[in-house]
Amino acid sequence: MSVLKIAIQKSGRLSDDSKKLLEECGIKFSNGAGVLIATSRNFPVELLFLRDDDIPQYVEQQVADIGILGENVVFEKNKDVTIIEQLGFASCRLSLAIPKKETYTGPGYLMNKKVATSYPKILTGFLEKNNITAEIEEISGSVEIAPGIGLADAICDIVSSGSTLLTNGLKEVEIILKSQAVIIGNKDLSIEKQKILNDLLFRIRAVKNAKENKYILLNAPESAIQKICSLLPGMKSPTIVPLVEKGWCSLHSVVKEDQFWEIINQLKEAGAEGILVIPIEKMIL
Ligand code: ATP
Ligand code: ZN
Repeated sequence: MSVLKIAIQKSGRLSDDSKKLLEECGIKFSNGAGVLIATSRNFPVELLFLRDDDIPQYVEQQVADIGILGENVVFEKNKDVTIIEQLGFASCRLSLAIPKKETYTGPGYLMNKKVATSYPKILTGFLEKNNITAEIEEISGSVEIAPGIGLADAICDIVSSGSTLLTNGLKEVEIILKSQAVIIGNKDLSIEKQKILNDLLFRIRAVKNAKENKYILLNAPESAIQKICSLLPGMKSPTIVPLVEKGWCSLHSVVKEDQFWEIINQLKEAGAEGILVIPIEKMIL
């Protein structure tokens, strides 16, 4: 029987969320500490624990069938693989940063300067697009210290909050790439493996939809129901249950997490009371 081999980061910022995603999909792993490969007892997949930088190459070479990693690494490695799904975690950006006291004048600022980075390919693309000649100093870690020690005039590195830049006397001046975790896949999966992947994607989307939505319950006078239904269209349409108190009912629906705070005041104005918002575990559309 076919098994889909999934490469994930062995240890680092992606490993916990990658494992959690698969667990939320109901996939159980026999997980010994320090192992290289884990098998699942209830789903035809195998986990390979690797350095994130190696994942694109291994997926291209079919050592793994799919992999979970940041888009930043996918674009930097530029291997012959397909991006299958964006996963919404490990959001960060690849940015240019320069010493705080300098004035940034646009990409031209980098002309004939030295830029330290672990992303030489993406940076080269950016420089070429802007017709800039600059020297790239490739270093594999602690890029943010390069200007301070006189190794470079600027850096191109991963930023999330920007606090690492600040503590090193730098400021972010240009976003080159926005990144999040994605699933990449080999371009030549067998029909059996493709079928397992489709099952997995179905589960992943159910988990992702659930995270983006909340279950909402509220009480309202019958006269307010029409207005409230227009604010909370739900998956098909809201459920309405009569309350013991005459003229009142309870309305159940689904609301997008990011729209909830905007809608809440309108719901109250329309007459809603006793509003409960509950997390959803899985949501199949
Ligand atoms: P490895 O040992 O596997 O090579 P690494 O040191 O290259 O690990 P990590 O620091 O664990 O990588 O980061 C892995 C990925 O997480 C990055 O490629 C990026 O996509 C994302 N990432 C990095 N920094 C942040 C951050 N500060 N916030 C959110 N996501 C980040
Ligand atoms: Zn890495």
